[in-house]
Amino acid sequence: MRTDVPLSTTSGERPTGGKVVNIENRTCLVLGCGGHGGAILLGRNRDCNARSERGGIASNHESRVRRGRTSSDTGYHPCMNTRYDAVIVGGGVTGCSTALFLAREPGFDGSILVVERDPTYEHAPSAKATGGFRQQFSTPENIHIGLFGVHFLKHLDEYLSVDGETPDVGFRENGYLLLATESMLPAMLENNAVQRELGADVHFRDTGELRARFPWLDTDGVAGGFLSDSNEGYIDPYSLVQAYRRKARSLGVEFVHDEAVSVQSDGSRVTGVTLAGAGRVACGVVVNAAGAYGASEICASLGVEIPVESRKRFTFVFECREPIGPTPLTITEVGVAFRSEGKGFISNVSPPPERDPVTRDTEIEYELFEELIWPALAARVPAFEAIKQTGAWCCHYDYNSLDENLIIGSTPGYENFYIAVGFSGHGLQQSPAVGRALSELIAFNEYRSIDLARFGYERVLTGEAIREVNCY
Ligand SMILES: Cc1cc2nc3c(=O)[nH]c(=O)nc-3n(C[C@H](O)[C@H](O)[C@H](O)COP(=O)(O)OP(=O)(O)OC[C@H]3O[C@@H](n4cnc5c(N)ncnc54)[C@H](O)[C@@H]3O)c2cc1C
Repeated sequence: MRTDVPLSTTSGERPTGGKVVNIENRTCLVLGCGGHGGAILLGRNRDCNARSERGGIASNHESRVRRGRTSSDTGYHPCMNTRYDAVIVGGGVTGCSTALFLAREPGFDGSILVVERDPTYEHAPSAKATGGFRQQFSTPENIHIGLFGVHFLKHLDEYLSVDGETPDVGFRENGYLLLATESMLPAMLENNAVQRELGADVHFRDTGELRARFPWLDTDGVAGGFLSDSNEGYIDPYSLVQAYRRKARSLGVEFVHDEAVSVQSDGSRVTGVTLAGAGRVACGVVVNAAGAYGASEICASLGVEIPVESRKRFTFVFECREPIGPTPLTITEVGVAFRSEGKGFISNVSPPPERDPVTRDTEIEYELFEELIWPALAARVPAFEAIKQTGAWCCHYDYNSLDENLIIGSTPGYENFYIAVGFSGHGLQQSPAVGRALSELIAFNEYRSIDLARFGYERVLTGEAIREVNCY
């Protein structure tokens, strides 16, 4: 069994030296940290879809599997062919899951190429997410997606094992806890009724029950919380990307380290993708899974506009002197999230709109931790009065400005150009269901498991938003 691994931070380093400042009555020693100031917070007491074109070089399902099984390395390769039945742009969780499910799909026997610009995933949200998997949503489709997500995690042997080895993606079934004030309760109770009807193991717990279960929690000012007894928790995102990729390769999917520059079309069909290195690759279908840093540009090359923006998000790492873990992935009534990670914790929040510009810059705003996150943490968990911030990293949401939900399926004007983007913070946990759904669309031109038609591009044209209610 895997034990908790220490967090690796790309931008944060252990603090060294610094100055003492006062933030909202808290004494705070701000230290140099990657040039932006990490903080040791000492606390008040200073104690601190089947339209693949066959032909050309396309291999059938069997030979693809055979070829994949015999390859011994795990890296990316130069592009081997000039035509594939399916080209997937983006090798994050969405692209890799789609490749995997398409390769597993008996209704599709074509060749599959995944194009990834950065095989190290240094900046990819897929490797840097908080890792949460849950069913606590208000939209039935999202609940179904969440239920399949946990089914997938609990059957990794069925989906991801290679040569008898099942990967460990670090699933911690520690639950999710969504705290609610009195005014939030009616909507959240309604959500919970839908969740339970669909099979989620999530229950309302009053403040007494919460305190008994989590003695570290201060329930002053909340009416209670929604807590899962099973099936929710978090994983190690990078391990999932690697596991998807390894399995997909074993099934014959080719991965190429290159950048997709544009997609070409002929009338209502896309016909190929131009790669910066390998040049033009002809194809039967294209899946745009390029996420926050590329999906809009790929769509734009076909004249398709998507309401998807890059919005900066930070994850802060901290340690607490008093041992209180492991905690569920807790989201406070003001939207600050935290969970155990190894011997410490990670925490994040979506900034208020006035501090949430569309940007791809990666500078960490440490003030957000000091001004928004720490006070909220300390208010709910008294032990968090005295914490030491030890690192932070920055990444971006592929933020759907229409309704913060995914957009999936083909796009108007192009019957064989598919997108899956706009996850707005949920794409990791949605990747198993989304990969499966796209493989169904490609193979059969219809959804066969979860009907995700409502999440199609049409709502972008009609402006009919599907919003989550009191969910994050
Ligand atoms: C701080 C933070 C916390 C999060 N926490 C959670 C969570 O707890 N649970 C959850 O479910 N989700 C979470 N998410 C959201 C989740 O990380 C994303 O929704 C998900 O990773 C999206 O995956 P993707 O594969 O669609 O996109 P990405 O991860 O962005 O992958 C797209 C890939 O495409 C590549 N690419 C882009 N353009 C091109 C091109 N032109 N050519 C070739 N390759 C290209 C990129 O290099 C990248 O590797 C979080 C996100 C952030 C930022």
